[in-house]
Amino acid sequence: MGERVLVTLDGALADADAPLLYADDIGALRGDGVFETILVRGGTATALEFHLARLRRSAQALELPEPELSKWRAAVERAVKEWGADDEGMVRLIYTRGRDSEFDAPRSELAPEDPKPTAFVLVSPVPARVATARAEGVKVMSLARGISVDLAQAAPWQLLGAKTLSYATNMAALRFARRMGAEDVIFHSTEHKVLEGPRSSVVIARGKELITPPAKSGVLPGVTQRSLYAVAEKAGWECKYQTLFTADLFDCDSIWLLSSITVAARVNQLDGVRMSAPDNVQEIIDLVDKGIERPGAIGDW
Ligand SMILES: *Cc1c(COP(=O)(O)O)cnc(C)c1O
Repeated sequence: MGERVLVTLDGALADADAPLLYADDIGALRGDGVFETILVRGGTATALEFHLARLRRSAQALELPEPELSKWRAAVERAVKEWGADDEGMVRLIYTRGRDSEFDAPRSELAPEDPKPTAFVLVSPVPARVATARAEGVKVMSLARGISVDLAQAAPWQLLGAKTLSYATNMAALRFARRMGAEDVIFHSTEHKVLEGPRSSVVIARGKELITPPAKSGVLPGVTQRSLYAVAEKAGWECKYQTLFTADLFDCDSIWLLSSITVAARVNQLDGVRMSAPDNVQEIIDLVDKGIERPGAIGDW
């Protein structure tokens, strides 16, 4: 196993330490593209079909050419095979609009092709923060996202349900939280409704209930959250999509940040208030792990 594995969409292994993008790639110039992040565990890309389906939906939202999912699937499988089964890995699927200069060139008999999107799969080691977040949980700060829950419907160009490469504000929120002594963020709307983390879904547990904000409020539908719900329902939990106010976060048994790489991180402190671990913490962690390893039928996802 190498440090990183790079595979282009034609299925070819590339040198992960050699340059790949052109300087005028619109993904780099404007963040105009979409991505997915997938956990490799035991030599398998977890919940791959769910990630591919979301890649397609994100691409549709940006009016990118329809991704050829069979090629993406093959590229991921090639990359994961190369990565091996010994260590967990982080797979990134990157899909950008391609080269700026190709959009200026008129289509002609000599150059009849539409501009080609940039597409590749990169596997890297899982970041060091992940092990701590899984084992000990995370200190979280709630921050204003500055948007209403109505924005997703009213302004589709905000691309709120798409996993786009324009994550500079998400990263800025994480840096802000770090300066304030926290490790992660829960965004809320102008109505003080809970949204999501900069790279995770928020789920709370209360009694035998799990609650997450509905997608129409402008949060990204999370593969990890969806995988948890699929197994938790069978295990007797009531799984709900429901509006949560920030105040509700202090009236529950546990708060979880769910995401493909960290999987499940319990919030152990929110805005300076310690949140002690309830007895069923391990039960919930086990459910999420089981969920991503056996995500089941894709159904209405
Ligand atoms: C990726 C992401 C999530 C979590 O989705 P998973 O599919 O579970 O990884 C949630 N919110 C945002 C903003 C994200 O980028």
